Order: sequence, then structure tokens, then C-alpha cells
Amino acid sequence: MSIRPIYLDCHATTAVDERVLAAMLPYFTENFGNPSSIGHVYGWEAEAAVKQTREILAGAINATPEEIVFTSGATEANNLAIKGVAEAYFKKGQHIITVVTEHNAVLDPCNYLKTLGFEITILPVKKDGLIDLSELKKAFRPETILVSVMAANNEIGVLQPLAEIGEMCRDRQVLFHTDAAQAIGKIPLDVQAMKIDLMSLTAHKVYGPKGIGALYVRRRNPRVQLAPQQHGGGHERGMRSGTLYTPQIVGFGKAVEMALAEQATENQRLTQLRQSLWEQLSQIEGIHLNGHAQERLAGNLNISVEGVDGAALLLGLQPVMAISSSSACSSTSTAPSHVLTALGNPQQLAYASVRFGIGRFNTQEEIDIVAKHAIATIQSLRKTSFMDSRQGKRQSDLAPAD
Ligand SMILES: *Cc1c(COP(=O)(O)O)cnc(C)c1O
Repeated sequence: MSIRPIYLDCHATTAVDERVLAAMLPYFTENFGNPSSIGHVYGWEAEAAVKQTREILAGAINATPEEIVFTSGATEANNLAIKGVAEAYFKKGQHIITVVTEHNAVLDPCNYLKTLGFEITILPVKKDGLIDLSELKKAFRPETILVSVMAANNEIGVLQPLAEIGEMCRDRQVLFHTDAAQAIGKIPLDVQAMKIDLMSLTAHKVYGPKGIGALYVRRRNPRVQLAPQQHGGGHERGMRSGTLYTPQIVGFGKAVEMALAEQATENQRLTQLRQSLWEQLSQIEGIHLNGHAQERLAGNLNISVEGVDGAALLLGLQPVMAISSSSACSSTSTAPSHVLTALGNPQQLAYASVRFGIGRFNTQEEIDIVAKHAIATIQSLRKTSFMDSRQGKRQSDLAPAD
């Protein structure tokens, strides 16, 4: 087997932790029962395991277990929240507010609702990637039914002011949804203190398995109405039908439980690694940090680099590190990331950008290797670029067709 690059793409996905896998395995074989089978022990075992994860997730966000609806991931949870609220409340109003830097799993359901006649306000962000609360205040209308603002951004890692947004929504009796796919297990979340009515979660960004997520749906003060988007056997109190995927659910619970237990120490460790990477990289000129310097995920570093071609930089870095130039979810498009575009620095868009997602299995030794290689690559590309410009050749000619 060849040596594989150092994995630094933890916003795209993470490895399942061995302890998570160990917890899951019995639920594929011995404990294979259907949690809905109420007549025998196979069903009871599975139901008990599902109940335990419901309790862990509820505890993680200060909700109750009955408020957790399992889904296939955060994409489905976002779709259920946004389209489910739109369908249930359209008689009350048909206006939704969201933000330009949201994940496509929020923006696309909103765009779909637009084709059905809903009005969508897409808030801009400030240069640091955070929303301007006065812009939100201005955007509310009597017919606003939902505000959807993510907890932590998947590209630039910034943390939006959830408690302030929740307060503003509750004052106006508008529902507040947050996509917390990047946040669960990494930052404190509290649906009571933050006045959150719907929250999307996923397991695979926090060392759990892919294909499992959840939507928190508030049951009291206020009780959120939701139109199901998948009909069938009436699972999850009718909000999401389909046989529950017990092994994945067990893994989800274990992953979140472990992340919570290690959250404070791990955030400290990741912050140190990120600081170290940034300090080393910023020794060379023309490197800019994207997103707020403090209000961000511990493991996120997103930079723009002057004077190099984006594709050439990625190509130069890839043998040593598995990183991404923007969101993996939109990697099929060659357009600049909608998140970086939204930061409103037109010059920066001409720069190459790199997202480092540092996680549980990264070490200081790896960060040093990555920093050294990145600096060497940037310096060598800048030298080539200078020579090419003297020969009248464009740097982008060197980049492969995408
Ligand atoms: C990864 C991600 C999603 C999609 O989650 P899946 O569980 O893969 O469907 C949605 N929103 C954000 C912010 C993400 O980072």
C-alpha cells in the first residue's frame, strides 16, 4: 500500500472511531431486531438501544428524547425542517429568512420553496462571515414563519450568534431552525438557552457513521408543527417513516457521547494545532485568514493565498495532505465557493483558497509536515509564476483542465 496523504478534511467527513464501531457491531448480527417489533425480545433490545441514543442526543442539546426525530443525515433533517414547516404554516405566512453562507442543504430547499410561491430573504454576512443582527431585525415581516441560520460554517468554521438570533425569533413568534451538522459535539448547544425550535444533526462529522442524523423538533413553548416529507409506517411519531437503522443510531449515540466527554480538552488541543499551523503559514507573505479569528470551530483554518493559481496549489499540496479548496458538497462546480464570495472581498476571490479541517486523529508532527510542505509549494509556485509572467505566459495555463 502506498503512503496516503495526511487527512485534513474533517469538515467533509471523519473516520468512524474504533470505539464507535465496536458499539455498533452487535446490532448488525446478534441484536438485529426491528425497534418497532413490540412483541419479542429482538425488538425490545433494538428499541432499548435506540432509546439510549435518543437520550444521549437530547442530553447533548438540552432537549427531551421525544423531541429527537432520526433521519438519514443533516441534508434530510434540513429538508424536513424547512419544507415541513413551510407546508404546515403556509396559511400563517409564506416568508422565510436564511443566510447566503448556508450549506446547499438549506439553500436548495429554500430555492425549491420559492418555485412554490414562498418568499425567501437571504441575509448577507459581514467580512468576518458572521451575520449582522440589525440586518436580521430589518428582514422580519408579519408573514415570516421561519429563520434558518447555521451554527457552525462548514467552510470557514465561523460560529453564528445563536442565542441572539433565537431571542429575536422568539420575541416575534417566528420559528428558529439551525443546521448544527458541524457543531454537535464540538461546541456547547442548548435549545432552551438559545431558543432554538428545530436543529439538524449528523453523525459522520463527529467520528460517527455516515447515513444517520436527526432533527430536533420542539414539543413545548411552542409546539412545532411539521408536515412529514416521507410517509409510511408512522415511525418517529409520523414525522419520518421508515424502519430505524439501529446500528447507525447506536454509533451516533456513542460518537456524540464520546465527543461531549472529550469536548473541552479536545477543543484546547485542536486550537493549539490550528494556531501552530497558522503561525507557521503566516510567516510567508500574502496569506489571509478567512472568517472570524476567534468565533470559529477549533479545528478550522481557511486561508487565501496571493500570487498562486488555485488548481496548481491544490495539485501541489495533494500528495502530502488531503484537503479541500472549498466545500466537498459542491466540489463538482468550478465556480468559486459561495461562502468565500459572500465575504465580499472581490480581490480575495482571485486568490487560491484552502480549507484545513483538523480533527481527533491529527498530531503536531503532522501539522509540522503539512506547514513545511505548504510553504515550500507556495514559494515554488510563486517563483514559477514570476518566471512565466516574464515570458508572457499565464499561470493558469499550467493548471490542468478541471
Ligand atoms: C455535512 C453537512 C451537511 C450535510 O450532512 P449529511 O449528514 O452529509 O447529509 C449539512 N450541513 C452542513 C453545515 C454540513 O457540514
